[in-house]
Amino acid sequence: MSESSITVLAISDLHYTGLAHQTAQLPQQRGELTKTLLKKVFLRLNHMGVHPDLTVLLGDLIEDGSDRHAELDMISLHGELTRSGIPVLAVPGNHDIPPSAFTSFFDCAPGLHEIRGYGFIVFDDAYAENHECERSAEALALTKKIAAEHPGLPLIALQHPPIYPAIDSHYPYRPVNAAEIIDSFEKAGVILSLSGHYHKGQKARTHEGVLYHTVPALCESPFRFSLIRITGTRVEIEEINLAMQTPNIIDVHCHTEHAYCGTTVDTAPCIALSQALGVSTLCFTEHAFQLYFEKKTAMGFKWQNTPSLAETVWATPERHRMAAYRRFAQKVRSPFTKIGLEVDLYNNGKLLLAPEDAEADWDILIGAIHFIQDFIPGKTGQKDAENLFLRDVEHLVGFDIDVLAHPFRFFSRNRLETPTRLYPEVAGLLADSGVAVEVNFHTHQPDPEFIRQCAEKGVKIAFASDAHDLAEAGEFWPHVNVLRQAGITPKTYAETLFSF
Ligand SMILES: [Zn+2]
Ligand SMILES: [Zn+2]
Ligand SMILES: [Zn+2]
Repeated sequence: MSESSITVLAISDLHYTGLAHQTAQLPQQRGELTKTLLKKVFLRLNHMGVHPDLTVLLGDLIEDGSDRHAELDMISLHGELTRSGIPVLAVPGNHDIPPSAFTSFFDCAPGLHEIRGYGFIVFDDAYAENHECERSAEALALTKKIAAEHPGLPLIALQHPPIYPAIDSHYPYRPVNAAEIIDSFEKAGVILSLSGHYHKGQKARTHEGVLYHTVPALCESPFRFSLIRITGTRVEIEEINLAMQTPNIIDVHCHTEHAYCGTTVDTAPCIALSQALGVSTLCFTEHAFQLYFEKKTAMGFKWQNTPSLAETVWATPERHRMAAYRRFAQKVRSPFTKIGLEVDLYNNGKLLLAPEDAEADWDILIGAIHFIQDFIPGKTGQKDAENLFLRDVEHLVGFDIDVLAHPFRFFSRNRLETPTRLYPEVAGLLADSGVAVEVNFHTHQPDPEFIRQCAEKGVKIAFASDAHDLAEAGEFWPHVNVLRQAGITPKTYAETLFSF
């Protein structure tokens, strides 16, 4: 028989406040963000190429279980977990709805759950009015019974309160009978005990043969969760931060509610999230073509070879939605938030910007190739596509743009090969024109080799979330990672990254 193994995602203390009344939450607790943070956890794992077999939630999913909208907020979190497609085990915390209602909501009764050759024991320790918690005699006996009935099954205990080591605080974090619990785990041969409740968390520590880990709160900076890999009875724990550990990160490219292609991106939560996650400057750069044309026209790209479409719009004072966007941009502009546009080519290499919009006081302009005039999808071959692409890059960098958006994404989007032979030429064009190159993971996988060649030629590297989905905001782990693959470490960011 081959050895069992399992990868467990452990998350604790979300203290979510969605539809529920905002209570006097401590300022460092960001319950209003946790639904998106939960979504970001799954996005991060996706970037890391990790596919957990199980998610365990260690309690305090919501801030106030007695709120009349508590169940709706639970449903909301449940929705994100459903979308992840990963099975869930959840234990109730002192802030949640009553334990019986909680465990039935998650179909997660107290007791043993056997998953992939491991025995997870769910405890629903009850809390008294004075915040004290005590494990019942029945629950202590159950641990013993499970061990006796399942010899050889590696056991993992899941509970809200931290068990070990002691915490120096007046607040009763640990159960009053923690010593009895420790004894029961030791006797039952529990290999791992996972807890939450103590927001700082406790690094994994072995005591009498049992490994104890308190998972830090997702709702507090740096917004942590744990990834636990178990092979046989060997346990490996990785603590992961959602927040950036690197200073001076500028997100040069983020969308807003004006984007037709946006899904859940919204300006306000984008600002709040990016700030919380340690981004230093956030640039909103809406698609100019989507501001000039109504949706069907914009997304049809006929405007690219029909200049009269733009001329007609530009003759009107509002220029469809552009004037409104400019007023909006002035409202959101701040020391943290910069404003700009993502601009495309049209009419044989001209920049799609009305004269008065070209003269406007933008903080940043991003040049993008979403579609290429003269390129016919499914007809134009690889070689011709490469030549057309190079032609458009040459045109774009000739304008007063700061950054080239998602270079080479055009090819993967059109199911063509990425022309690595063009890397030196494109890097050279960017270097000669002083245009920065974007690292952008929105529906694209940047090649570290191209980034390396750009950096070598002195081209500045710009981090872009290109957020169309709110969860993409402030997510720069893959950027840091791909730069490392290109030989660029955070130590040299001051010289290598794009800045204002
Ligand atoms: Zn708690
Ligand atoms: Zn784009
Ligand atoms: Zn974009």
